[in-house]
Amino acid sequence: MKLRQIDQATLKGKKVLVRVDFNVPLKDGKITDNTRITAHKETIELLIKNSAKVALVTHLGRPKGESVDSLSTKQLISEVEAQFGMKVIFARDLDEISGKMESLEPGELLLIENIRFYPEEKKNDRDFAKKLAIPFDIFVMDAFSAAHRAHASTDAVQHELPSFAGLLLKKEIEMLGKVKKDPEKPFVIILGGAKVSDKIGVIESLLEKADSILIGGGMAFTFLKASGLETGTSLVEEESLNFAVEMLGKARSSGVSIVLPEDVKIGTGPEDKEGITVKAVSIPEDKMGLDIGPETVELFKKTIKGSRTVLWNGPLGVFENPVFAEGTKEIAAYIAERTDNKELFSVIGGGDSAAAVKKFKYETRMSHVSTGGGASLEFFEKEILPGVEPLSVDE
Ligand code: ADP
Ligand code: MG
Repeated sequence: MKLRQIDQATLKGKKVLVRVDFNVPLKDGKITDNTRITAHKETIELLIKNSAKVALVTHLGRPKGESVDSLSTKQLISEVEAQFGMKVIFARDLDEISGKMESLEPGELLLIENIRFYPEEKKNDRDFAKKLAIPFDIFVMDAFSAAHRAHASTDAVQHELPSFAGLLLKKEIEMLGKVKKDPEKPFVIILGGAKVSDKIGVIESLLEKADSILIGGGMAFTFLKASGLETGTSLVEEESLNFAVEMLGKARSSGVSIVLPEDVKIGTGPEDKEGITVKAVSIPEDKMGLDIGPETVELFKKTIKGSRTVLWNGPLGVFENPVFAEGTKEIAAYIAERTDNKELFSVIGGGDSAAAVKKFKYETRMSHVSTGGGASLEFFEKEILPGVEPLSVDE
């Protein structure tokens, strides 16, 4: 897929609206993780270097179409100033944008109030997008992680202005696209996390492309149960049991190996202070599987060792609790090592998976850690994302 790139635009003196995703986690008004802000650095620096006048628009949380003080993008000003080394001018509403863009000085950026304060945003309202577009010459779509939503600031606005892909969006599409289109084989997919139902689309669309699928995390127990095992109080999605049975059968008939945990670390619940390792075939009735066990770690490593491409979505245990973090950590370490040795092209998708890899400090050693969350999953399920489609050009 070819996208219209910013280097095809004349930027000097142009008023550019950039859709970023600054939907950072906040605690008492403080940003607890600034990854989503720093991820747009290259795009914004490129625009500034080329003498564009830049305004940034984002959503923050779920204000449901109303002004909510605790979700105002005002709270992001000092972090944006620190990260981009520029002064931020704030536009409280759409009516302020035009005047503030006119008087924007070099060294200044305009930041627009949370776009989801407007109910028209989620409705992908054309008139609203027109109004948003009026003060600008060009639109740059850089919010890959919001590109699975057809909203006014991700979709409709692109039909009002000449639109181009930002560098972050471009990189995401390139890296994830490589895995989606022609992954170098053998190709292994590692799946974990909490819910099977979240990942059904990905499993269906990638099953036949993969050589192996390693399943850990909460998800594994639905598959273990579907293969006839007792799973105690582990997370099992009853409504996905049929799907799991079907997938196990389909994998078998198409020669894809699905690898399930052979041992698991169990406890009374996610907060337990200690865990014990048991065979997957002997999970006690009153215990919950919360991590993959050491034998499974070795088993997974063996498959990863023989692979050239890995796509990982979903932590392999309750990594937030150090007692159940080992599986996720060890597999992350191993993938990092293989990637360092240029033996593996490694892509991590999913919000919590990215957080886990970051927490254990393997982030920079993966080929790509997607900022995508839900968007990275939908990228594999769908032909094209609604926020990307207007940017595509015929090859
Ligand atoms: P991602 O955001 O990467 O797609 P998910 O949202 O699907 O991942 O799942 C992440 C959550 O899954 C984490 O909060 C983690 O604690 C939880 N999890 C992992 N393994 C288990 C398990 N065995 N039982 C319950 N929850 C689990
Ligand atoms: Mg998640």
